[in-house]
Amino acid sequence: LTATDLIEEHRICVCVRKRPVNKKELAAKELDVITIPSKDVVMVHEPKQKVDLTRFLENQTFRFDYAFDDSSTNEMVYRFTARPLVETIFERGMATCFAYGQTGSGKTHTMGGDFSGKNQDCSKGIYALAARDVFLMLKKPNYKKLELQVYATFFEIYSGKVFDLLNRKAKLRVLEDGKQQVQVVGLQEREVRCTEDVLKLIEVGNSCRTSGQTSANAHSSRSHAVFQIILRRKGKMHGKFSLIDLAGNERGADTSSADRQTRLEGAEINKSLLALKECIRALGRNQAHTPFRASKLTQVLRDSFIGENSRTCMIATISPGMASCENTLNTLRYANSRHTR
Ligand code: ADP
Ligand code: MG
Repeated sequence: LTATDLIEEHRICVCVRKRPVNKKELAAKELDVITIPSKDVVMVHEPKQKVDLTRFLENQTFRFDYAFDDSSTNEMVYRFTARPLVETIFERGMATCFAYGQTGSGKTHTMGGDFSGKNQDCSKGIYALAARDVFLMLKKPNYKKLELQVYATFFEIYSGKVFDLLNRKAKLRVLEDGKQQVQVVGLQEREVRCTEDVLKLIEVGNSCRTSGQTSANAHSSRSHAVFQIILRRKGKMHGKFSLIDLAGNERGADTSSADRQTRLEGAEINKSLLALKECIRALGRNQAHTPFRASKLTQVLRDSFIGENSRTCMIATISPGMASCENTLNTLRYANSRHTR
């Protein structure tokens, strides 16, 4: 089966990506508890102790559509996840690609590109790779004759509120009209004519996303970032690709935090990730009712979960270290849930 076949069959593709051990983990001599023995299997080897204090490894096995080990590149991950979905939007469909995982596991690296060093490079993230292929597809005779226009939006959902990353974080309202259409009122939709145009918007949006943060990573790890590529034909929507860098899924500490705001944010994130799981599950089952109203995230993505021609892929990102074991298992169980549908 090719990636395209899998999506045709399931409408959903779920993959896991393990990031390499980083300097900090290396310095701490942290154990790498993850192995990827084949292209679709992830194993977690959790160190445990018996009552008599003898140590052993508890091995757990998870199967996915694809499992990418720490030597995989963004380009490889892209080819099996978002790449097949580019076709979907040219065929008048709705495509959605999520990065799900613990803070520090590689969601932003996968979706947005490398923002860690001085040389910020967003050209190798999945946002940019998808944009590149959209412009390549536009040149094909079949699609060229449609005279499609390409637009991009970039916004953030933080604590149940929507902020426009292409318009200095303007706070936006979400409205549902009588026909069940969901609208983000005033969201900037910028026309883009080439990959470079898109790269500029990603840079603008990303600097907007991370500016004014008190502690590094704090805000961006607690918000969902949504980057969309929209195809229009004579002004009418033809297809839409939503690429989403989700808020970190580690929430254990939040729920007992002394700070009320932190607790509320944590609860909101839990709620939206749970709602997302339900909506993806409904899509996979071809279920008539999709509970998209349960959170702001799923509400603004309503179009992605309904309709004949909706395709979704989830990239679950995991950290290799033993200290992350519990979060990693939670991520794998969440991502795995569609297999038990
Ligand atoms: P998240 O968005 O999930 O919080 P990041 O994408 O910011 O995590 O990744 C955390 C750090 O790990 C960053 O410095 C990033 O550059 C690095 N990193 C993540 N994934 C990879 C990878 N596959 N290869 C190399 N470095 C990575
Ligand atoms: Mg991030």
